[in-house]
Amino acid sequence: MTSMGPADRESGHRDPGHRGSGHRGLGDRDYGDLDYGDRGGAPASGRRGAHARGPAYLRLVWVYPDLLSTYGDRGNLLVLERRARLRGIGVEATEVNSDQPVPRHGDIYLLGGGEDLPQVLAARRLRADGGLAAAAGQGSVVFAVCAGYQLVGSEFGGEEGQPVAGLEILDIRSSRGERRGVGEILADVDPALGVPRLTGFENHQGVTQVGPGARPLSRVLTGVGNGDGTEGAYAGRVLGTYLHGPALVRNPGLADLLLSWAVGALPPLDPEYEAWTARFRDQRLAAVPAG
Ligand code: GLN
Repeated sequence: MTSMGPADRESGHRDPGHRGSGHRGLGDRDYGDLDYGDRGGAPASGRRGAHARGPAYLRLVWVYPDLLSTYGDRGNLLVLERRARLRGIGVEATEVNSDQPVPRHGDIYLLGGGEDLPQVLAARRLRADGGLAAAAGQGSVVFAVCAGYQLVGSEFGGEEGQPVAGLEILDIRSSRGERRGVGEILADVDPALGVPRLTGFENHQGVTQVGPGARPLSRVLTGVGNGDGTEGAYAGRVLGTYLHGPALVRNPGLADLLLSWAVGALPPLDPEYEAWTARFRDQRLAAVPAG
């Protein structure tokens, strides 16, 4: 991962012109039902592989690591970077702290978890900045974890439980629950996404309702997730989850889904490159009873 300063971030404003008309903005969300037996209505499924001529490089933007990064969330950036590079895709990774403007032409934006006060501050600054919402509106991929997940929704509970306005780029609404959800989590992903079972670690007080403009990402086998038996949510190219661990290290299939939303269909990686990831993943899956 290359940490870049403001000068480098300027290059994040170049657009290599890969955004064709095939990109769908959030205004094009499908409103599928929640029956995971129905593969037809998923917002993102038809998009996989639709952009075979991807960009020569991928612009990853890590949003506010100074406020939003817990439980190794940085690993999500490292994994996307590595899995892109192993497929010959050049990567420009940019860290944007909360006193810097968010570039509007990144391909994938990452947000991590955070404690209550930094989360409120991050939401306020991101709303004032406007860059992330603009990028999401143009079809950029957004991957948001825990505090980041809550704040891309319309509202979440602040440090005293007070409602705090979110970015409104994903149709979810969060509030403070009765008790914290802490521990390992296992969840089965909406089959429309073609991603294997999720393993992660969660630690949050918030509970989240998924609105009609989004779909739950998965169904919980062990753990808390959204608090209603589902975990995470997605619509268009915005995907959020409570999973740390980091999520994309434990779940390379989810990493490849995000990459494919940005650049199109991806070839599988040589098993040699998957060995450590597979061992880690298998070990975490084996450590937690499913249900
Ligand atoms: N502060 C939020 C909550 O407790 C998010 C926590 C986190 O990001 N781990 O719900």
